[in-house]
Amino acid sequence: MPEHNRVIQVAVPRPLHSVYDYAVPEGMPIPPAGCRVQVPFGRSTALGICVNTEVANPHSRLKPIHALVDAETSDPAVSHELLDLARWMSSYYHHPLGEVLATVLPAAARRGAEFSITAADCWQAVQPEYVNPRAPRQQLLLEFLTTHPGSSGAEIVAAGFSRALLNKLAALRVVDRIDQRADPQPKEPNLAASPEQALAIEKVHQTLGSFQTLLLEGVTGSGKTEVYLQSIASVVANGGQALVLVPEIALTPQTLSRFQRRFARTGMLHSALTDNERLQTWLKCRQGDFDIVLGTRSAIFTPCQNLQLIIVDEEHDSSYKQQDGLRYSARDLAAKRAQALSIPLLLGSATPSLESLYNAKRGRYQHLHLLNRAGGAQLPSFHVIDMRNENTLHGLSHQLIRVIRHHLDAAGQVLIYLNRRGFAPTVLCQNCGWQSHCSDCDAKLTLHQTPPQMICHHCSLRFQVPQQCEHCGHTALLPIGLGTQRAEENARQLFEGNPVYRIDRDTTRSNKQLNEQLAQINRGDPCILVGTQMLAKGHHFPNVTLVAVINADAGLLSPDFRAPERTAQLIVQVAGRAGRADRTGEVWIQSYQPENPLLTTLIESGYSGFAEAELTSRESAQLPPTTPMALIRAESADAELAKQFLQQCKTQSQALGLLTEINIMGPVPAPLGRIANRHRFQLMLIATSRRALHRCLSALDQTPAPSKLRWSIDVDPYDAM
Ligand code: ADP
Ligand code: ZN
Ligand code: ZN
Repeated sequence: MPEHNRVIQVAVPRPLHSVYDYAVPEGMPIPPAGCRVQVPFGRSTALGICVNTEVANPHSRLKPIHALVDAETSDPAVSHELLDLARWMSSYYHHPLGEVLATVLPAAARRGAEFSITAADCWQAVQPEYVNPRAPRQQLLLEFLTTHPGSSGAEIVAAGFSRALLNKLAALRVVDRIDQRADPQPKEPNLAASPEQALAIEKVHQTLGSFQTLLLEGVTGSGKTEVYLQSIASVVANGGQALVLVPEIALTPQTLSRFQRRFARTGMLHSALTDNERLQTWLKCRQGDFDIVLGTRSAIFTPCQNLQLIIVDEEHDSSYKQQDGLRYSARDLAAKRAQALSIPLLLGSATPSLESLYNAKRGRYQHLHLLNRAGGAQLPSFHVIDMRNENTLHGLSHQLIRVIRHHLDAAGQVLIYLNRRGFAPTVLCQNCGWQSHCSDCDAKLTLHQTPPQMICHHCSLRFQVPQQCEHCGHTALLPIGLGTQRAEENARQLFEGNPVYRIDRDTTRSNKQLNEQLAQINRGDPCILVGTQMLAKGHHFPNVTLVAVINADAGLLSPDFRAPERTAQLIVQVAGRAGRADRTGEVWIQSYQPENPLLTTLIESGYSGFAEAELTSRESAQLPPTTPMALIRAESADAELAKQFLQQCKTQSQALGLLTEINIMGPVPAPLGRIANRHRFQLMLIATSRRALHRCLSALDQTPAPSKLRWSIDVDPYDAM
């Protein structure tokens, strides 16, 4: 065979845009595209992915690949479908293909792990009639397994048999392993769907087998999950699989068990799994052992035998956007995958993103509604407290304190929502106004109390609590503002006798701790919950009758163009925790700007009225989603270097002659200009068309970074930080 027919192209996981040609040594089969190969690279070796086998390279001195990692070349690590998705991502996000492929594969797979599924440690008798009169213990174990088929190794040992005995019977082929998940019988029946739910389920059913995006906008507590479950049921009945994405914070054991009670063969992919557990679930999905896989952002890359439906729950959630490295949106990739596979995508939310609403408005998405809460629960009523004429005690207005007392007295639970963890957002000198800042960031330090320390929420540096002003030496330092720790302490004093639970990133480091707190809360006794947005997402607190939003203003006043959208979503989501069962709820919002039109529109016209108004203002300001945007970020210990690099990018783009199609703003310092002693600048590109935007980025994406500088392209940035 002539030499050039034994050449393949390999993408390696390095920040380089090229793919490289390698020779396949005689006697080694040519690996099909998608296979993992070990190749010499620079002075070391790399695990790359073969991306092309039809290469004509007359060069006779090509380096040979070292080894094929995927022994079964008929079953490459990256399927054809996902390889195409990776290629698309590489061009859309302007990111090197080798690094994209490394993101698509689970960590263990990209380190070269062998693809073998560890057999489940569950046992059954396969020759129950076997008799060995000289081994009574063997006989007893055999009887045990005949009466308890499917017992796990641990259960067998607990019943008094040794592992050695079990292994002996296994070697004799008297007993054998069984797959515990072999029983696909659903354990729990469907609920009787409401007419609204039934209509949505029917719509999804009608689209099975073709590409269509459906946006399910359903108020909090309207039973979106039931729509998902019944839609999945028709897929599973059809022998297909469903992929369900949920926000990071929402993938709790409660969520999983809700799906598992309906579908025995449910797999779960989340960040707390070990690399090997993750690989095992990935492999089982790939060979069709699971009917559903439930996972967070990166689960969008799960290979499936026969995928027939993708669902993205809480599609507006920011955790679907990867904020570093390859800055992809799992929601947008879900649409891409569904399109390639000709299957429907179901997006669900009580507060859809403006992106999705815009697509629905233009007729690209089918818009479905659930306007009522399931089981007849009422939506909460809204009240705004004008803080300008209120006396406050510990950050709570007297009016709010009265309302809280009232709800506690009526045996209700109260949820106090704040957007800041820690004790107080800043420490201020009463003499000169000095505030405590991080040494390495342009950010104020947050005072924490248990243990007492100052923490930077941007670089995580910790400092001692200052005893005197660093500027004037005065010792009258005052904690200013309210964090969750302080609100918890205040609530204990103000509402003595009522338990107070704090739920934020500091108190819920472990799932176990969170579950214990949730169990106590859901016993239903009057209590106060204090927390950050962790409280707003997905939880069901049947006895919460009052939700108090302590400070709605910060989000409404932020310069980030997405801040109003995010704030409205948070208020509606946290309000949605109130009155989810038979008792109606109230939402009280403290604001120094009670007539801010964003707030009044939200309260008077609900989220959809708010979203409509906000979309109009984005349109007239030429901002996403109506106008495509990208950010180029650069950071370096040397501010000048970062700024110059972006200036050079700008000059280069301007030379392309796209001036009427692309508006380039900057370079300007990022909203947080310095983090961990690195200066951060950004360039904003706003284009009249995606084509123009991509032409411009393609001209820039291979610019080599000067040493001591990091830079990145962010297409469809989520926040301009
Ligand atoms: P969402 O995800 O829209 O916020 P959930 O799916 O969590 O709402 O449903 C809220 C509550 O309503 C859950 O306790 C659920 O079991 C219940 N529910 C949903 N659909 C029905 C139904 N058709 N009949 C009775 N209860 C329902
Ligand atoms: Zn001072
Ligand atoms: Zn810092």
